[in-house]
Amino acid sequence: NASNVAFIGLGQMGARMVKNLVSKGEKVKVFDVVPQAASSVQGVTICNSPEEAAKDACFVFTMLPNGHIVKDTLLGDKGIMKGISNNALFIDSSTIEPQQSQELGKIAKENGFRFLDAPVSGGVTGAEAGTLTFMVGGEDKDAEEVKPVLLKMGKNVFKCGGTGTGQIAKLCNNLILAITMIGTCESLNMGVKLGMDPKLLTSIINVSTGRSWSSDTYNPVPGVMPNVPSSNQYKGGFGVSLIAKDLALAENAALSAGAPLPLGAISHQLYRTLIANGYSDKDFAVVYEFLQGKK
Ligand code: NAD
Repeated sequence: NASNVAFIGLGQMGARMVKNLVSKGEKVKVFDVVPQAASSVQGVTICNSPEEAAKDACFVFTMLPNGHIVKDTLLGDKGIMKGISNNALFIDSSTIEPQQSQELGKIAKENGFRFLDAPVSGGVTGAEAGTLTFMVGGEDKDAEEVKPVLLKMGKNVFKCGGTGTGQIAKLCNNLILAITMIGTCESLNMGVKLGMDPKLLTSIINVSTGRSWSSDTYNPVPGVMPNVPSSNQYKGGFGVSLIAKDLALAENAALSAGAPLPLGAISHQLYRTLIANGYSDKDFAVVYEFLQGKK
């Protein structure tokens, strides 16, 4: 059953998510500040503003870089709020601060529409394949209502709790991801420098205790796996600036809860060092190249 869907933010993740919605029969209106991002997907209606995209939509999705941009897209001039129908559902799939999600939920309630935070995991490969994991915070009945649409982009939908809890689950996941990616890069760089073949070393790790998503699905060494950013000069994928943002959000959340993040803090600073060295827009597996040093 087609519902009217609006989707704002067609970057690395959003464009692929929209492709799956369209191929599975949804009618989708899109908006992105970068016109060629919006026109990269076939079969959608391109709009000139979030307001226009949100008009008559049952579900309005955002997949944007950070919480400030999400808020701006909601409240700004020609923002979502100007166009959204009464009682429509606004679903933010970006990774943002849990408190910012709660703020968005409050704004929704006060203005007669509904809100869910529904960040995702699975990376660009999961977005492409339609196998993302959604972590949803908000009202149970709202989560149930949008679930069939989420299942066109993903294969797992977890209802976590009240507004903002989807983001908490997401930050917990990405804290591990940020750390294991660095660990995998350190290990493979050491192995290669000591003379091991990275493909063989990866095969060993992938059936041993060092295995993780970073080693078996998103290997950071160029040429070890096809179709991952490391084999394409670390282009596309999950930007260093985005993982650094997630670690900053995790550190804030951890601070408020009194949970120590010793490795999270070091990882955050390492990714920030990469940003300072010009790697901001590269995929986060580029830690490997950074540790490798000058060739
Ligand atoms: P991206 O930078 O590739 O895409 C963001 C898109 O938003 C771009 O096309 C940009 O033009 C657009 N945009 C920016 N400001 C806008 C505005 N004001 N109005 C409309 N469009 C605007 O980022 P991405 O990798 O697709 O990630 C999006 C979100 O998903 C982030 O919050 C990220 O943390 C999260 N995420 C990313 C991945 C990943 O592997 N890339 C995985 C899970 C979650």
